[in-house]
Amino acid sequence: MSQAALINNYGTPPVTFVRGAGAELWDEQGRRYLDFLCGLAVTGLGHAHPAVTAAVAGQAATLIHTSNLFANDLTAGVVATLDRLIRSGPGGDGEAGRVLFQNSGAEAVEAAIKLARKHQGYGRHDVITAYGSFHGRTLAALAATGQPEKHEPFQPLPQGFRYVPNNDIEALEAALDPSVAAVMLEPIQGEGGVIPATIEYLQAVRRVCDERGVLLIADEIQTGLGRTGSWFCFQQSGVQPDIVTVAKGLGNGFPVGAVWARADTAAAFLPGDHGSTFAGQPLALAAASAVLGELEAIDAPAVARRLGAELQRRLDAIDGVAGVRGSGLLIGVELSQPNGARDARDIASACLRSGLVVNGVTPTALRLAPPFVLSDEQLSEGCDILAAVLKEG
Ligand SMILES: *Cc1c(COP(=O)(O)O)cnc(C)c1O
Repeated sequence: MSQAALINNYGTPPVTFVRGAGAELWDEQGRRYLDFLCGLAVTGLGHAHPAVTAAVAGQAATLIHTSNLFANDLTAGVVATLDRLIRSGPGGDGEAGRVLFQNSGAEAVEAAIKLARKHQGYGRHDVITAYGSFHGRTLAALAATGQPEKHEPFQPLPQGFRYVPNNDIEALEAALDPSVAAVMLEPIQGEGGVIPATIEYLQAVRRVCDERGVLLIADEIQTGLGRTGSWFCFQQSGVQPDIVTVAKGLGNGFPVGAVWARADTAAAFLPGDHGSTFAGQPLALAAASAVLGELEAIDAPAVARRLGAELQRRLDAIDGVAGVRGSGLLIGVELSQPNGARDARDIASACLRSGLVVNGVTPTALRLAPPFVLSDEQLSEGCDILAAVLKEG
């Protein structure tokens, strides 16, 4: 297909997919591919999942949209499930939180930043994030993204964002002056290369945030909803954030995001403070409701732990793999780099030509985010394809 009419910010796509089922995709020529990426950690339940398809099709035939001027009958159920899952970890008992729906990850981040600023009050507006982080592409989410090279072409960006090295509690403490409203972290940096924050660091961050009255925002857009082996990745460190952002996996491909906040934090938003025409509409919540129901039915975190452990073990044994990192089904594969070795992006392209969808997330590492519905045979087949590609040298 010609991409000539598109603004060229994604380069030339190598393949046109026309159909999917579970962990498999098919292109225009009828070639089959194994999907170990899930549209960037989105389609965790696999493509064309029957329950999600039925929910979206049924809702589309019933009521798609009414605006936030009116209630809809799906909101309460989705809010209750999200709140229960977000508070299901060791640090998470206590009062029920509140949810505000969004249409995407970047919008959830924007809402989280606005909520933190409103809660903390005028003058206390800075948000501290980690170098190497990724929080989205809108101007404020881009400013929050700790990759200064991505900022330059778009200056001036919104003010009030500062960055600290990841996993360095002293650097964070030194940055926490009275202008700081919140610290926002990904428990595992996804776009940054699948780089985990340590459990000790997350616990120390929670402690210093409490000491200074600073809010802790967990950006779980990529790590949330079971992918890393717990409902939310922060739960593995036993801390409970004040605000949590969710998107990618929530609609299994239907665009829907959310921001959750503790009740006292959420209380800062009053009517008129924030809004969105589409967010929380019946069609999006029908998708989210079906996805959450299905993720709970299969115990997605347990599936991610089991498949993730097996996949990490198999990947680690492949010639040309220097190491494996991540958690559950969010995996970074560091490639050994003998002289003349190809860039990880070239390896990803070679995998695609061999029928395996993965992503070169850094020059030396692949990112894998396969679906919960991956069979043991598909897991083996994917590892065999990667092994063959790396063997070609
Ligand atoms: C993908 C991602 C975002 C942005 O989400 P979009 O839906 O692309 O706007 C924000 N934060 C994290 C951690 C992400 O992985």
